[in-house]
Parts: sequence; C-alpha cells; structure tokens
Amino acid sequence: MSDILNNDQNYVWHPFTHLKYAILPIELVKGEGAFFIDANGNKLLDGISSWWVNLHGHCHPYISQKVSEQLFQLEHAIFSSFTHAPAVELAKRLIEHLPNNQSKIFYSDNGSTAVEVALKMTLQYWHNKGDSKKKFIALENAYHGDTFGGMSVGARNVFNNAFENLLFDVIHIPVPTKENIEQIKETLQLWFTNHNDIAGFIFEPLVQGAAGMVMYEATHLDELISICRKNNIITIADEVMTGFGRTGKFFANDYLTHKADIICLSKGLTGGYMPMGVTSCAQFIYDSCVSDDKTKTFFHGHSYTANPTSCSAALASLDLMELEETWKQISLISNLHLQFLEKHKAHSKLIDIRCLGTILALEFKTPDHTHYLNNASENIATYFLEHNIIVRPLGNILYFIPPYCITKQELENVYKATELFLDNLD
Ligand SMILES: *Cc1c(COP(=O)(O)O)cnc(C)c1O
Repeated sequence: MSDILNNDQNYVWHPFTHLKYAILPIELVKGEGAFFIDANGNKLLDGISSWWVNLHGHCHPYISQKVSEQLFQLEHAIFSSFTHAPAVELAKRLIEHLPNNQSKIFYSDNGSTAVEVALKMTLQYWHNKGDSKKKFIALENAYHGDTFGGMSVGARNVFNNAFENLLFDVIHIPVPTKENIEQIKETLQLWFTNHNDIAGFIFEPLVQGAAGMVMYEATHLDELISICRKNNIITIADEVMTGFGRTGKFFANDYLTHKADIICLSKGLTGGYMPMGVTSCAQFIYDSCVSDDKTKTFFHGHSYTANPTSCSAALASLDLMELEETWKQISLISNLHLQFLEKHKAHSKLIDIRCLGTILALEFKTPDHTHYLNNASENIATYFLEHNIIVRPLGNILYFIPPYCITKQELENVYKATELFLDNLD
C-alpha cells in the first residue's frame, strides 16, 4: 500500500462511507477536462462531474487562471460592514440570470447552508410580520442536505435515522404525478384552510437528485407553487443540483410559469472549484428585514461568507456558461441522452429509464426493490471502473451527469459500456 493510502486509512474519515467494508479509496492525482488521472496513471472518465459539481471540466485553464489571479489580489475578506468587487459583480450577474422575481443574493458555504439560510429566511419573514408560522411542506424522498434544517425537510431515511427525534416536524407530500395532482391540491387546500401555521414549501424542482434522479413534470410543480402563492405560503426551490444548465435550461425554474420566492444554489455555482452556496430571494422577503427594530435583523452568516476566491471561481464559471459553445454542448449531451433513452426504453432489465437535459438515469430490475442500500450499486460501480468510467449509483439506479466538456466520442463510450452491462445481466 502506498504511503498516501496507508495514511488515509490511519487518519481520514470519509463521508457517506460504510467504514467496515469500504474498499480502499482510489487516489486521484490530477484532473484534466472530463477525466481524473489516478496514482497508477489510469485515465478515468468522470461520469458524474465529481459530486455533481463540475461544469466545464477539471482544471479548466480559464477558471484556474482567474482563481489564481484573485489569490494574489484579495483571498478572503470579512463580509459584514465590508464588501468587494467579486461578490458584488457575482450577485449582479446571478440576479440577471435568475427569474425576474429574484432581487437579493445571500452568500454561504455549500448546498446545505444555502438551504438552511432559505428556511431561516422564511421563518424570519413570518417572525418579522408578527406571525408565528413555523411549519414546512416538502416532497417525499427529498434531499436538502445534511445539516439539521436540511435533514428535517428531507425524507426520513437511513441518512438520518440516528437524529430522527431531533428533526422538526415537516409535512411530506407525494411527488406530483398526473394521477395524484388533484388529490395533492385538495389536501393542500384543506390544510391551508384549516391551519394557519404553514410557513413555506420547499422542493427540488423537476429532478430529485439523491432520491435517485426522480423526475416530475413542470406543469404539476407550477400548480403546487400557484396554490401556495394564493395562500401566502413562501416557496423555496432547492436548485443546488439542478442549477447552471443541468436540466437543459439555466435553472429548472426556467421551465416554470410560477417562480419560487427563494432559490438555493451551490454545486455547479463555482464550476466545481470552490465551496460556496447562494440563497437568492424576492424583494418582499428582504424588505421584511428592513426595519427600525434591530431585533428584526437576519442574524446569519459564516466566516467564509462571499469568500472572494470562491466568487472569482463562480464569475469565471459564469463567463463560460454564457458562451454559445457551452450551450451547444448541453444540447449535444441532452440529445445523445434522449437517443440512448429511446433505444433502450423497453429493455427488459430496466424498471425505468429517464432523462432531463444532461441528466440520464437507469433504474435496474434487481431481486431487491429500488432503494439506496440496494447491493446492485457496488456491482455497477465496479463494472464501470473496470471500463475506466466513474459512476456512483444510488442503489440500483445508475445515472450520468457529465461535465459539459465531454465529447460525443467519450459519451458514446459510456453508452457502449452501459449497453454491454445491460446485455450481461441475466
Ligand atoms: C447536494 C445537495 C444539497 C447539499 O449540498 P452540500 O453542498 O452537499 O451541502 C442540497 N440540496 C440538493 C438538492 C443537493 O443535491
């Protein structure tokens, strides 16, 4: 075993890892476009954009250059009573891309904190209005991060069993479908009429990532947002995974007629370079905290809030997002995914195959039901690694969410490996 792996085993605790049976991690030594290079010199195709974060490829020279310039100018700065150009410019440009109702940007450090901020902003809004609304509605299967607020609005499952009693009560409603949408609307209306304690509704728009790339229709979400708006319920779109072109549009909200009041961003925000979260909000939320009364202040912040280096990575990534070339790539990936889906949608080994924009998911038939702990995940991951492709299945659900710089040829290799895998299933 190399010194690195030896010391890894001695000193490091890896996230989401079944410690007793974990196989040795693979040491990555370099990133290059859509590939990682490991310590043995293997070139591994990154089929999942690292942890769904990378947009333009690893070690993109343009972003690396911009970040390195920022590091010699202003690496970190306290963000209360002080400001700096990267944070201001980024806020302005994000607002220009976000739906029209968004008007202020609040910075934090990651997806979970972007969600935490959204929940607290909502509660602060009602508190400042002298109303004691405290309850949230969320979707079944939801994943909104690993902090306590994020866990609370998330599904109750193996991720948070140990903390269950400490999570606050949330009303979980089914993911809307053609069959259940009328029932959900009725149930919601009944709640809104009979209870006066609902503060907000949080959802992953169109794609529930960690649930297994579960997809649902924009028209149904529009109906839910609309009914919330009519009843003065704050709506929060957690676009941590869906933002920045993943679904084929800049934001998943761009598919909607009714836009969320609050939007959470992270993952692709910095192109996968630096940790950063953003919570944007409509003007009325911000205005509720503008008061002569000091106790109506939104008391939230992080040591690294609006870190200039992170902001510079996000600005450079946005520059690339604004290139026509990037959108051509997003279309190419989306079209190739769709072709693959059409070809295999009736495959006997698949429960389902689905796709939206650059996200493609295959749900395999296995002896066990569809579940995060389904043992199929290890076999799938091992098979693809033997083909030098990195995937991280969610149980029996295999998905691809590649960096936008991936070429047609590289994608076709991924599909070929997938077809071979499907053919070999007994
Ligand atoms: C990943 C994710 C989060 C949590 O983000 P972290 O940066 O891992 O804290 C929250 N919401 C959604 C939808 C996510 O996909």
